[in-house]
Amino acid sequence: MIAIPHPIYDAIIAHAQKDAPIEACGYLGGVNGEVKLHYPMTNVDASAEHFSFDPQEQFAAFKEASAQKMRLIACYHSHPATPARPSQEDIRLAYDPNISYLIVSLKDGEISLKSFKIKGGEATPEEVQIV
Ligand SMILES: [Zn+2]
Repeated sequence: MIAIPHPIYDAIIAHAQKDAPIEACGYLGGVNGEVKLHYPMTNVDASAEHFSFDPQEQFAAFKEASAQKMRLIACYHSHPATPARPSQEDIRLAYDPNISYLIVSLKDGEISLKSFKIKGGEATPEEVQIV
């Protein structure tokens, strides 16, 4: 389960909408499945079909969260035109079985956010609470 405060949920959706048709991406920091920090990041691929983080931004987010005694507990990206399901590539590139992988779909103008744990090539949905 991952709990996302309303203002951060709104900011994630706004980021996805602003960057569309390019995929938006970012990290969420927090503790024990509770999101407290939002780090919108640059999709250095600038692609509508995949994303890559900027390693410097990634490191800055990691450092900033650590300074607040928190961890990066989730990463998110958007699917501007496809459903909120991890692609084969998303599953292949998921490097950390402990964090949550959030996907925001804007397909057909409908907003949908889903979260997954990805381990051993398998994506398992988890509950998202907007709090
Ligand atoms: Zn994806």
